[in-house]
Amino acid sequence: MNVPLLDLTRQYDQIRDRLTPRLTALLESQQFILGEPVRQFEAEMADYCGVPFAVGVSSGTDALLISLMAIGTRPGDLVITSPYTFFATAGAIARLGAIPLFVDIEPRTFTIDPAKLAHTIDDLKPSDRERLKAIIPVHLYGQCADMGPITEIARTFHLSIIEDAAQAIGAEYGGKRAGSMGDYGCFSFFPSKNLGGFGDGGLVSAQSESDRDHLVRLRVHGGAERYRHTEIGGNFRLDALQALVLSVKLAYLDQWTAMRRDNAARYRMLFADAGLQEHVGLPIEVNGKHVYNQFVIRAPRHRDALQRHLAENGIGVAIYYPIPLHLQPCFAYLGQQAGDFPQSERAAGETLALPIFPELEPAQMERVVDIIASYFRRHT
Ligand SMILES: *Cc1c(COP(=O)(O)O)cnc(C)c1O
Repeated sequence: MNVPLLDLTRQYDQIRDRLTPRLTALLESQQFILGEPVRQFEAEMADYCGVPFAVGVSSGTDALLISLMAIGTRPGDLVITSPYTFFATAGAIARLGAIPLFVDIEPRTFTIDPAKLAHTIDDLKPSDRERLKAIIPVHLYGQCADMGPITEIARTFHLSIIEDAAQAIGAEYGGKRAGSMGDYGCFSFFPSKNLGGFGDGGLVSAQSESDRDHLVRLRVHGGAERYRHTEIGGNFRLDALQALVLSVKLAYLDQWTAMRRDNAARYRMLFADAGLQEHVGLPIEVNGKHVYNQFVIRAPRHRDALQRHLAENGIGVAIYYPIPLHLQPCFAYLGQQAGDFPQSERAAGETLALPIFPELEPAQMERVVDIIASYFRRHT
């Protein structure tokens, strides 16, 4: 039995009948740019996330970029984030000429460590502290960063908060949904995210009408009216076609999230039954409701061999992320080295993502755990 890391065909089977007539109507209209489908999806997302406003954009990456532009990020500014995340988080900072200031993760949640965040800011020279602009907490794998203390620190130092909620739509922290706690919340609808389009897409949540209007201007090259540009933006539009697909899918999201959480609970049972606790670290929920975009285990010392063993047995697995961002060649100019962020480096060497998509079947999960058990029978 092969078990893919992700199989979207089964989700498509579920929505096909609802989707097809709407897609056909859109094709008949030939109206592909923004318009009613985008407006409707923005309203639905604002409601879903518990925020007053939402602006559809072209990708999760562009959601981060446009948010950083909206707060006025300039060359030389410092923007704090975690080095253990998808590249886009830090890439967006650097593309504006700002400097990613990395803070290591808290190992249980893989999200930025608030204690280390406070230390990092304390250790800055006063002149550097003045260049601090924002913090981008990443709600990695579907669990929120520890937003309570992060928000307090941000307030103390007058930093904007841009949540990277690309992997965490519907996740909750203290009863609040991901993307509703910062100044802006960034979402991605890349097909492998919990809410995925038929291509690229993203969205930014906003707290005020003026912030929303600013994002709407930046989304179309900074034009307040057509062909009159008050500032420099970009083409950050969400396609009407994607918005339509996402609207249809959003109605199923809570059901799919519940299925992901059931799958996580089943994995826990299966790992315990197989007596694998001493070999494999399982994800834990300490910062509220986890939505399991990924189910990431730790296999210290065995990760690479275990990955090979799983792949040889037809199990789809992946490593998110094998190289922490401070060690990426393109960030060599930041002058950081191996050993600077030990928890991120450890995670990069130990973690492995297992299949967790909603439609995954119990027998497939049993197969995954059986193959892991067979590895450890041979190697311990
Ligand atoms: C997917 C992802 C992004 C980027 O989203 P795209 O839509 O692929 O541009 C940013 N940050 C994180 C944490 C992500 O997982």
